Amino acid sequence: MNSPVVVVGGGAAGILAAIGAAEKEVPVVLLEKNTRLGLKLLITGKGRSNLTNTAPLDFFIQQFPGHGRFLYSALANLSNNDLISFFHRLGVELKVERGGRVFPVSDRSKDVVEALSRYLAKLPVDLRLGTNVTGVNLTGNTVTGVKTEQGLVTAHAVILATGGLSYPRTGSTGDGYRFAQALGHTVTPLRPSLIPLETKENWVADLSGLTLKNVKVTAWGKKKLGEEFGEMLFTHFGVSGPIILTLSRIVVRELEKGPVRLSINLKPALDRDTLERRVIRDFDKYASKHLKNALVDLLPQKLIQPVLNISNLDPHQPVHQVTRKERQCLVDTLQGLPLTVTQARPIAEAIVTSGGVSLKEVNPKTMESKIVSNLYFAGEILDLDGYTGGYNLQAAFSTGYLAGRSAAGRHHSSRRDQ
Ligand SMILES: Cc1cc2nc3c(=O)[nH]c(=O)nc-3n(C[C@H](O)[C@H](O)[C@H](O)COP(=O)(O)OP(=O)(O)OC[C@H]3O[C@@H](n4cnc5c(N)ncnc54)[C@H](O)[C@@H]3O)c2cc1C
Repeated sequence: MNSPVVVVGGGAAGILAAIGAAEKEVPVVLLEKNTRLGLKLLITGKGRSNLTNTAPLDFFIQQFPGHGRFLYSALANLSNNDLISFFHRLGVELKVERGGRVFPVSDRSKDVVEALSRYLAKLPVDLRLGTNVTGVNLTGNTVTGVKTEQGLVTAHAVILATGGLSYPRTGSTGDGYRFAQALGHTVTPLRPSLIPLETKENWVADLSGLTLKNVKVTAWGKKKLGEEFGEMLFTHFGVSGPIILTLSRIVVRELEKGPVRLSINLKPALDRDTLERRVIRDFDKYASKHLKNALVDLLPQKLIQPVLNISNLDPHQPVHQVTRKERQCLVDTLQGLPLTVTQARPIAEAIVTSGGVSLKEVNPKTMESKIVSNLYFAGEILDLDGYTGGYNLQAAFSTGYLAGRSAAGRHHSSRRDQ
């Protein structure tokens, strides 16, 4: 049999799957419905592509809550260091930034996609852009090809790398989930992850664009859900930024059960007494001013009014008239600015989709389906979602590469058997 390995989806996972199979000198057909490869890859990392992270393996695994262990084989097959060397060989030099985040030196994701495309062109890969796959063909329990709008493509093995549900204009419209379900696979509930949150308080809109660095945000449902330290951002609808995105995964799940509150500690480096002494010092300095003008050293201008409102303090009150009790209310707010989450933004705006093809039904050593022969999965279609930091792309590259190599191995062994 000389049918190709067919890869569905030309994103991070699909491209590496095609490379993984083609490097083993197996014919590959890569089908992508867009007229360009890697549309989502182009917008990653704000157009700079945070390709991976230098974190050690165990830390990497922990960045995929609940499911990280599934990635051991894929990461052993193509680790973060392997990926960095791979891009070096393709002529894309990488650099490491804060938190071990790895980006191209050029700061251009376009360079990444172009280098991958050039490499694909050197391999036995028949790239068919503008080809929308509409289903997967089965004979008995074995995959034999895919249906496209242009006709049938026979396949020795099929790798589904169709991505998730977020940013659908990049092509990730969830088609692969439907194909997997039609083939008998379980798709776990699909939810947005790494998603901004909407809040009930409409004063946030006045702060839109304000970034807070070195703050601690705690999310509360019936109990404490989680806590993150770092940077957040106010938007016209609520909150976003790295620590909010990280918390969003658990917040989205809790919102299905009940309300969620956020508490922002604006001065987490100071304990309560030290913060109160700091406020007293500022009040001494600005004793002749109105309260709203006495907090300029402590808070960004835009945040002063909401902090005073929440503390039930009159912004026009002379500082020397503030009572001890009022001052303590202010300190409480500074260490626990409350927000009520109403909902997450829609899944189309998520950085990744949480949920997907159940990992119980996929062999982590090969990425092959345990239900259907010659069917493989790679990338975001799997029930795998990580935090920000380059982990999701590395997972897509690694699972893709492993699926490609496994499918090629199967191709070789079946040819030997003939
Ligand atoms: C705004 C944004 C920024 C991000 N930044 C980062 C970052 O810096 N670092 C990081 O690690 N992660 C980042 N991510 C997450 C990362 O982009 C994804 O985890 C990764 O792209 C998943 O790769 P994939 O190949 O599985 O899916 P995708 O990249 O979505 O690729 C799937 C491909 O399949 C194609 N396809 C779908 N259905 C069909 C069909 N029926 N027929 C043919 N083709 C089809 C699609 O057109 C698409 O090209 C970001 C995500 C977003 C939305």
